[in-house]
Parts: sequence; C-alpha cells; structure tokens
Amino acid sequence: MPRIVAIHEGTIPIKSSISNAYISFREMDCSIAAVVSDVTRNGHPVVGYGFSSNGRYSAGEILRRRIIPRLLQAPPEELLTEDGTNIDPERAWEVMMRNEKPGGHGERSVAVGVVDMALFDLAAKIADLPLCHWLARRYGLGEPDEDVFVYAAGGYYAPGKGLSELQDEMKRFLDLGYRVVKIKIAGAELAEDLERIEAVLTVLGGDGSRLAVDANGRFDLDTALRYGEALEPYGLFWYEEPGDPLDYALHATVAERYSGPLATGENLFSCADARNLVRYAGMRPDRDTIQVDPVLSYGLVEYFRIQDMLHRHGWSSRRCVPHGGHQFSLHIAAALKLGGNESYPGEFQPTGGFADSAVVQNGRIALTDAPGIGFEAKAGLHEVFLGLGT
Ligand code: MG
Repeated sequence: MPRIVAIHEGTIPIKSSISNAYISFREMDCSIAAVVSDVTRNGHPVVGYGFSSNGRYSAGEILRRRIIPRLLQAPPEELLTEDGTNIDPERAWEVMMRNEKPGGHGERSVAVGVVDMALFDLAAKIADLPLCHWLARRYGLGEPDEDVFVYAAGGYYAPGKGLSELQDEMKRFLDLGYRVVKIKIAGAELAEDLERIEAVLTVLGGDGSRLAVDANGRFDLDTALRYGEALEPYGLFWYEEPGDPLDYALHATVAERYSGPLATGENLFSCADARNLVRYAGMRPDRDTIQVDPVLSYGLVEYFRIQDMLHRHGWSSRRCVPHGGHQFSLHIAAALKLGGNESYPGEFQPTGGFADSAVVQNGRIALTDAPGIGFEAKAGLHEVFLGLGT
C-alpha cells in the first residue's frame, strides 16, 4: 500500500521580458511541488512533481495552509485506489477540496492544480507507465495519440521589437518545425496591429489559416467588433479572447458578427465557468476552440469533468486546445484526444516546453516513453525539482 510521506513546495521565478495587451511578465513566478511516496525504485523514493501553469502567480500560502496539510493529515487509505495498489488523484482531490465552498475560483484552483499534477505524475510513476498510457488504461480511453498538434505562441510586444524582429521570431518558429504561429494584438492601435499581422503573413506565404491572434481580453465590445471586421478577410486560424474572459454577452455578440474561428477559456478556472461559457458565450462547436488550462483550473480531475460537460453539450474533445505549453498538457492532449496544445518556444523557463529531446515535426510533437510526465527528461526543470529537497 503506497503512502505519501512528505510534500514539499516552493516558489520559482519564470521571468520573461515579454508583455501582452494586459500584463508584463517581469514579475511572474510559479509554485512547484514534490509529493514523496514510500515506494522505492532503484533505491530511491518515487516522487511526483507539479507546477502551476504560467499566467497566474504562485499560490504557496494556500498550498501551505490548506491543500498540503489536508493531504498529509488524511488517513493514507483515503488517498488510494479501491484495490489499494496506487495513489488515486481523484480521491486525493476530494481531500484537498474539503471545507472549500463552491464558486470564486482564483488562486485556490491554481494551488490544487499544482498538487494534482504531482499526484498524476506519482501515480503513473508507481505504475511505471508514461502518464498518457496510465490515463488510457485507468479511464478506458483507448490508445493515446502518438503525437500532438502544437502551435508556437509568441509575437509579444517587447521594447525595441519592430516588424523585422517579429518576422525573425516567426521564421525561427517555422525553422523549429511549427506550422501555426500566434501573435499578440491589442497592445497597439488597430492600424499598427494590422501591420504586424501583414508582416507575419509575408513569412507564412500569405496563408492566414496558419496565424492566430490573441487580444488577451483587452477589448470592449466596440473595439472587439472593429478588430473582428478588420481581421475577417485574413481567414485567421483563430481570434483569441477578444473581450473580458467573463463577459459572455460580449463574446456572444462577437460570435454573431465574426464568422471566423474564435478561441477563449484560458482565464476560466472551473467546470462551472466553462459550462457558462458554452451556455452563454455563443461558442460554436463546429469552429471555435476552448482553451481552459487544466493546471490553472483545479487540475486534471476537474478537467475530466469539463470534458464530460462539453461532451454533453455536443462538443468534441478535438475542439479543446489548452493554454500553457508543457509536458503535462501534452500527455493530457494525447490521452484525452484533444485538438492540440499551446507551446511557447523558449519562454517561461524552466517549467515551459517539452522534453529536451523533443522535436517538432510538421507542427506536431511525439511523447516520450519516460514514466510519469517525464520531467526527468527535461534537465533544467528536473534540477529545480531536486532543489525542493527530494
Ligand atoms: Mg491567450
């Protein structure tokens, strides 16, 4: 019967000089965690690791005061699968959320997401399987996808970054093997953003279906519609987060007027919020993309509930492309047959990105055979986890 013997947490910087329409990432940090079991392999304890996705700050206070103590104080059998052979992230989730009222998600969902990732890593390692294969077996999902579509998110605003630097960045993404790229909009005036879009389209041979744009929730309704009208002729891959993430009426109006694909959801942190999105925001299951980030929204346990809810509303899992490009979401995308995954080449280190050996081929990344999530195959990140004292 495996037991959790210790949980360590810490905060690390994931600094970057970039900015989107809303925030600068200069002060961005994230929580990391290590869940240590009493199972040993080759003389070492089996440890699961987790971190919070980029875009929200560390949640150490909630981890230290509520989430971690609840797990450590629970009777060990409460955290186990029915047959007692492994840690059960779903049952552990119920323990982590004990005495938490519904609604109002914010940072709590981030804290739970960090430990949820570590618990899934641990459970798959105890079973000695790559996470996507463990998930497939545990939840009867069939063979995982062998590789996953990834697009390169970049095109941020940065001091001294002009059109030619933006084009160079996009060329670099294509040289790395990506086919679809994304740039920020809404940090400048419409005329300047259109110049940036046209500059990138030159790099893409004029193919708008390989370019996504992201407004990061910046626009009011009038501006969102004005941009939509200007963007429509380009036939873009998608137009992301035009307005405030919680303004479903705004989004529904944009969806009525903008016929191209829309994408949103990275700033929704629960199944209840995602349900409101599909109920009230005019999202179209034949073309739009839902970007809820499993790690920022109570982890994979909650993400399974979101997938069930979407299925009941007539949505295919292929219409989900989570925010936050990292190894955990790659496994989730492969196992749950999602539409793909975000990727930020070179940004948000050490947590962002994939295994050191991962190569993007024709816009797709294959998974590795490492047990668990495979953090051990990403040297810089593994070193940071080892610094937690495991
Ligand atoms: Mg975004």
